Amino acid sequence: MSESCKNYIDGHWLEATTHKTFENRNPADRHDLIGLFPVSGADDVDQAVQAAKRAFARWRLVPGPKRGEILYRVGELLRKHKEEIARGMTREMGKILKESRGDVQEGIDTALYVAGEGRRFFGQTTPSELPDKFAMSVRAPIGVCALITPWNFPMAIPTWKMFPALLCGNTVVFKPAEDTPHTAVKLAEILTEAGVPPGVVNLIHGRGEEAGAALVRHSDVRVVSFTGSAAVGREIASVCGQNLKRVSLELGGKNAQIVMEDADLNLALEGALWGAFGTTGQRCTATSRLILHRDIKKQLTEMLMARAEKIKIGDGLDESVEMGPLINRAAREKVHRYVQIGKAEGARLLIGGAIYDEGNWADGYFYRPTIFDQVIPSMRIAQEEIFGPVLSIIEVNSFEEGIDVLNATAYGLSSSIYTRDVGRAFRAMRDIEAGITYINGPTIGAEVHLPFGGVKDTGNGHREAGTTVYDIFSEWKSIYVDYSGKLQKAQIDNAE
Ligand code: NAD
Repeated sequence: MSESCKNYIDGHWLEATTHKTFENRNPADRHDLIGLFPVSGADDVDQAVQAAKRAFARWRLVPGPKRGEILYRVGELLRKHKEEIARGMTREMGKILKESRGDVQEGIDTALYVAGEGRRFFGQTTPSELPDKFAMSVRAPIGVCALITPWNFPMAIPTWKMFPALLCGNTVVFKPAEDTPHTAVKLAEILTEAGVPPGVVNLIHGRGEEAGAALVRHSDVRVVSFTGSAAVGREIASVCGQNLKRVSLELGGKNAQIVMEDADLNLALEGALWGAFGTTGQRCTATSRLILHRDIKKQLTEMLMARAEKIKIGDGLDESVEMGPLINRAAREKVHRYVQIGKAEGARLLIGGAIYDEGNWADGYFYRPTIFDQVIPSMRIAQEEIFGPVLSIIEVNSFEEGIDVLNATAYGLSSSIYTRDVGRAFRAMRDIEAGITYINGPTIGAEVHLPFGGVKDTGNGHREAGTTVYDIFSEWKSIYVDYSGKLQKAQIDNAE
């Protein structure tokens, strides 16, 4: 096993004690083997957690501004290696190079944003109700944090969990998705080069149900931060509930873009194309439903079909390609299954609905951009997360109906409305049930300094990014300093 394919525990690159490995292959060409990575078991997880626990004793005492400075260096190194990491990411998970560069950029943005927090990290100071007494609150680190991440943003998601966790003074065990271990290794290398001490970040490769589950169950893990599917999120939450562990969940989405009859249709078209087919529809914030006012439905549908049919499919490393493959065979089978479900439900397939295996592409997991018309909100293709390039068009008669349809799913991550009517825009901001709402923009495009997360089945109320992320990774501690030299009793000595 090459150095660059191992676990990273306490500053050492190690094979798994199981001596088993799994393959990481390029989804654009299954014959391209990227590497063999360790299938870690409970013993490896325990080693990593123990290393993180030991490192916590020292890291929590490193001054916040110093921790911030190290993260700033991480940001600079990510910038230096951006192109190399982006190319590796595209090879590993298939999205086009432009998007992989954006993914790394999100890591850079987070590093620089979080670094500044090292000198801020505000608590509160308040008056005390008693004389000669001082009151304040500070944020305290919690301990070992488990970070479990999906493959669709192999740099952005791990970093927007990890950097705030570290800034708070916690240490980390990071379990990346099985499909993207290579980018995780690159991140670990950069952290080391930037001066993150041994044990502060530990990397464990392996299967979710084995390494991931062992990490969630480990009694020395105090916080679990999970991004992935709702099914796994529920499992993790129940284990954490039993053990009274803090858990933050970022789960699925069934995001919609509404286009009203007064919208700029060219703008709405660009938004729908980018939202539905960017990252081959494999973003948690991807546009999966397009809710069109009946007056513009025919025109916008025709515009959309004409453009979607021309999307250039292929290996994301080719700069002219607009849409890469799906992540693996199982993902493509799932997408194709949903297309059959849609047809059986009575939706009308306008374009796509088929595997793409032309020319050089027979060895990748490509799928054609797919659009369904005459979709009814209760259909499964309008309710369940497909996670592929499949867009369902739903016709509505009014603004109110559009909002009702948008809200009528179990999820609530991202949302969008195209309208020139400022009143409708503000009503949409108020009435849409989602963690993120865009006005005249697609459902994708979050920035790192605003809270990120969703309502309903998309999560459990936490928000990553912004300053809200610190509520996941720190404990509030209230401190009272009595310098009166006598016992003062709150609510008693100063009562009428
Ligand atoms: P997944 O749930 O299959 O896996 C996510 C991670 O969990 C992987 O690292 C996996 O190994 C691990 N895992 C699996 N079973 C586990 C278990 N029993 N215990 C502990 N860990 C376990 O998800 P995926 O297919 O990698 O990612 C796609 C999903 O992620 C989609 O549903 C998508 O919407 C969601 N997602 C959400 C957000 C968000 O911020 N809301 C962002 C990106 C992706």
